[in-house]
Amino acid sequence: MTPDRKLIYMDHAATTPTRPEVVEAMLPYFHERFGNPSSLYSIARESKKVVESARETIARALGADPMEIFFTSGGTESDNWALKGVALANRKKGDHIITSAIEHHAVLHTAEYLEKQGFRVTYVPVDPSGLVDPGVIEDSITDKTVLISIMTANNEIGTIEPIREIGSIANNHGIPFHTDAVQAAGHIPLSVKDDDITLLSLSAHKFYGPKGIGVLYIKKGTRIDPLLHGGGQERNRRAGTENLAGIVGLATALDIAVRTMNEEGDRLRNLRDRLISGIESAVPHTRLNGHPTKRLPGNVNMSVEFIEGESMLLLLEGHGICASTGSACTSGSLEPSHVLMAIGLPHELAHGSLRLTLGEANTQEEVDKVLEVIPGVAAKLRAMSPLYSPTEKDCHVQ
Ligand code: PLP
Repeated sequence: MTPDRKLIYMDHAATTPTRPEVVEAMLPYFHERFGNPSSLYSIARESKKVVESARETIARALGADPMEIFFTSGGTESDNWALKGVALANRKKGDHIITSAIEHHAVLHTAEYLEKQGFRVTYVPVDPSGLVDPGVIEDSITDKTVLISIMTANNEIGTIEPIREIGSIANNHGIPFHTDAVQAAGHIPLSVKDDDITLLSLSAHKFYGPKGIGVLYIKKGTRIDPLLHGGGQERNRRAGTENLAGIVGLATALDIAVRTMNEEGDRLRNLRDRLISGIESAVPHTRLNGHPTKRLPGNVNMSVEFIEGESMLLLLEGHGICASTGSACTSGSLEPSHVLMAIGLPHELAHGSLRLTLGEANTQEEVDKVLEVIPGVAAKLRAMSPLYSPTEKDCHVQ
């Protein structure tokens, strides 16, 4: 399923290829079954049925009621809708939101936008492994708190947050709890009931579905304003003609992901741990970012001292390996990742981070090939680094 057989694709947290079975399930909805679900003739009624059946499949996967599933254009829209929608609908009640310092920008930038609209936001810190402390969440609650938003699992370092404890605290205080489950859905078990979740975001392209389609789960009775205004789709809560093929694709992909989750999760955890220990033993001065065990099955994030993450990516690409780093070159200045800064990494280590996220197509041979390549890449870049002088430890591995 790799986009190109020659590539070793290890960037599944960025996106995944759409499964052939999913593409096949979607195809009829581009041509012969193209009816608008809001129209009244038979191909339109057929489309409506298909949307409702997809809603049921997704609800089953989350332990929700189908009427609590709302289709969106993806994770970004779902996060925007959850935060803005709940904040605005509850403005008279309160003006305070709690989130964490390591959320995706779809949450963080929305929270910052709400601050400009007069809301107050508490960004709770995380410990060095990226875990939010539920006790700190509870201590941050005031009588003006209208929303708590904490991600299920982090997209950079893979840490899985204690959302059940956080959900229970939110529930005890009568505060809606939103979780950005974009990296978690289809990869680890989720239950909106067991975890006391009020709103949950997910996105199909992170679990072998198509891009541009997502879901916001909204618990029955939640006060939330629409984000998009227009037609009466999604029971008057999310306007816009439904992305019919996308909805079919999302439901098909989630159904497969949930059915194969246990076996695939075990396989990926093995490959992940092989990759982590392989890098740690072959490349001196490396450290694992994120929690050693409470982490997504396919996530590896290492800091490689004395190296720029971007240089590493370029050399890895030369070997056909697609990976990612925590630093992003924006407007000429290298900004280290807010997540790596929040777990307390110094700038140098945050700049030298390498994220490898494993998925279905990755094999042990590929992991071993990456382990063969990385020490040479690190040595080559370190040889050019003015900050680096080899120690005895390095000599053992050359
Ligand atoms: N939230 C998290 C944790 C993500 O990892 C992403 C995408 O990388 C998003 C939200 C945004 O999702 P989408 O790409 O579907 O807009």
